Amino acid sequence: MRSREAILAQQAQRLQRLLTHAYENVPYYRQLFEERGLRPDGLRSVEDLSLFPMSSKADLQQRARDFLARGARPDRMIARPTSGSSGQPVTILNTRWEEYRREARRRRVDGYYGVQRGDRRAAVGFARSRTRLNQLLWKAISALRGDTRVKFDCRQPPERILRQLATFEPTVIGGYAGVLNQVAQVALENGERTVRPRYLTAGGEMLLPSMRRNIRAAFAAPVYDVYSSNELKLTAWECRQSGLYHVCDDSLILEVVADGRAARDGEAGELIGTNLHSFAMPFIRFRVGDVVVKGPDRCPCGEPFSTLRAIQGRALEHFLLPGGRVVHPFALDVGLTPWIRNFSLVQEREDAVVARVVALAERTGEQVAELTRSVQAVLGPDVTFTLEFVSALEPAPSGKFQPYRGLGRPHVLAAPETGSPVPPR
Ligand SMILES: [Zn+2]
Repeated sequence: MRSREAILAQQAQRLQRLLTHAYENVPYYRQLFEERGLRPDGLRSVEDLSLFPMSSKADLQQRARDFLARGARPDRMIARPTSGSSGQPVTILNTRWEEYRREARRRRVDGYYGVQRGDRRAAVGFARSRTRLNQLLWKAISALRGDTRVKFDCRQPPERILRQLATFEPTVIGGYAGVLNQVAQVALENGERTVRPRYLTAGGEMLLPSMRRNIRAAFAAPVYDVYSSNELKLTAWECRQSGLYHVCDDSLILEVVADGRAARDGEAGELIGTNLHSFAMPFIRFRVGDVVVKGPDRCPCGEPFSTLRAIQGRALEHFLLPGGRVVHPFALDVGLTPWIRNFSLVQEREDAVVARVVALAERTGEQVAELTRSVQAVLGPDVTFTLEFVSALEPAPSGKFQPYRGLGRPHVLAAPETGSPVPPR
């Protein structure tokens, strides 16, 4: 295992290389350097980086072309459109080499969780169409690794995904948290215990405590949360021992900023990321739009990575209520109610929240009234809460479920008072 010092030295070296490249080749960043009177060699350390201005999705939307390095060929790059939860969608472009690096990061995490040669791996996600060359490359990589990796489109009904998984008999499953949760709910409901992976990884959207509970119960296996974004790629993965998240310190620089300064251990803040491996379309001090809780600088398990205590997901998902009150989505995790199969909670006005619920058959009027009372107690008397029963919930066009849609603008919250929202395993 590499030492913490070796990782930090490599991080500083890669930062210098990235900044020099951005200064010399990327019009958007060149302008930022010049406006601030900065030069790459003036930003020697990770601490110096805080002098550099942050950028947001809005900057990327308005000046997408200027984010591209000189000589980059968009027609030869792999485009990843983002779901645009912050407004206008944007497309992130990566070279094949950058995609390969992305995959290498994922392989390291697979190795950490114990992926083995010969594993049958199911990936439940948004199945993108690949170019033929890319398909061949993928097959070659899979063959070299000696494993089988099959993609299952998450936009299919959960019943069908469960049937496909039962046929494939995966030893490892990865997928969007909300989709795995839906599949798990179907398996629990039907008493179908045929899918028995060694472990699962969830990503792409927030893994709520209720989702973790369902997935563990349905597949009788541990589920680990892996956090990534299109801009930063794989960013943090859940420690098997401590429940903290290890940060990918050798591939990115992650800052947690609260009230304009670096957050302390246990404090929530906005995630600001610098991707040390994106050169064609660099992301330097980029505001991803997620709120995270800073953890200790080293994980107690002994791995040489810094940590996060929690990933609270999209800042937009918080509920900003009358009088400026902010409610964290976990406070409204109605999915912990046993008779609910799936739900979405949408803030339609500042003072109106609607829960759309797909229920299991068995529920009493008293159970429904009790849930309404408990949610109403969190929201307060000045907010109208309505519970609607529906037969199915539609995912967003990206295939994600986004169970919470609040009106809160990106807003930095205090750390949860009851400690980590991740339940003990
Ligand atoms: Zn650890």
